[in-house]
Amino acid sequence: MLIVMRKDATPEQIGGVTAAVEARGLKAHPIPGAQRTAIGITGNKDALDAPAFESLPGVLEVFRISHAYKLVSREAKPEDTVVNIGGVAIGGRRLALVAGPCAVESREQILTVARRVKEAGAHLLRGGAFKPRTSPYSFQGLGEEGLRLLAEAREETGLPVVTEAVDVEGVDLVEKYADAIQIGARNMQNFSLLRRAGRAKKPVILKRGMSATLEEFLMSAEYILAEGNYQVVLCERGVRTFSDFSRNTLDLAVVPAVKKISHLPILVDPSHGTGRREKVSPLSRAAAAVGADGLMIEVHHDPDRALSDGPQSITPEMFASLVREIAQIAGVVGRAV
Ligand code: PEP
Ligand code: MN
Repeated sequence: MLIVMRKDATPEQIGGVTAAVEARGLKAHPIPGAQRTAIGITGNKDALDAPAFESLPGVLEVFRISHAYKLVSREAKPEDTVVNIGGVAIGGRRLALVAGPCAVESREQILTVARRVKEAGAHLLRGGAFKPRTSPYSFQGLGEEGLRLLAEAREETGLPVVTEAVDVEGVDLVEKYADAIQIGARNMQNFSLLRRAGRAKKPVILKRGMSATLEEFLMSAEYILAEGNYQVVLCERGVRTFSDFSRNTLDLAVVPAVKKISHLPILVDPSHGTGRREKVSPLSRAAAAVGADGLMIEVHHDPDRALSDGPQSITPEMFASLVREIAQIAGVVGRAV
């Protein structure tokens, strides 16, 4: 259920409604907006008694949210959410460019790639320290040492850092070192991990599961918001289809679909989405054209020797020319980089 406050509602009135919700053993989620504040209610098993809330001071209207997802829906918040990751806005006019290697491999590697992507115009640095690999014998990441190296790369370049947490304990560590917590495709429905991320003090980048429907994707985001963390960025990274000419099928149609029903920003990851280096630039251009709020791209200075995802990693030179192309396309759709 959603309680919409009057435009002129005072902070005391908003506090009064919140207290009334909590007095019933439910959770209140005040959602400030440009036009009005709304208060989402979660935790109820049955339909709530709307008239009891309607009569509270400052309340304009009370209505049921029709979708299964509530807090992530545009009904709850009509304006776009802008998520702030270490000072970089995701979801505003500027497209956010997240770039870096699939995995942190060494000090020299992460510092080299960080400097090069920064030079080329990246806004955020990515790099996995905990890698969810298909094979237990593949490189699993440097763990906490990888996080320390990412923090050092941030120190030197000023780029805020995004890195994946693969389990609940990992969130404690990632939260300590990074500016945003990535939840990977394989963990999109790891509900205990989502709940833990929902209690984190850092923004979350949630990647779409490889066979997740749009509703399942949004419901996973809902888990994070329901715990009180409203700083969530979605990321489309391709889904499994019968198509066999790329690693995954990048579902760019999900971008306008998300925009229609949710206020959350959405990035596109054409690296995992295609699995092939030469397809990263074309699909990045398409993502910018279709209205994505930014891109997440794997870049490696020596991709053929990368310890993970080399075939889809582009070189810093390729990244620099991609940024120039994206700047032009962004202009056409009323955005900038
Ligand atoms: C990654 O970003 O390196 C990654 C593992 O992505 P995904 O979870 O989308 O496969
Ligand atoms: Mn990868």
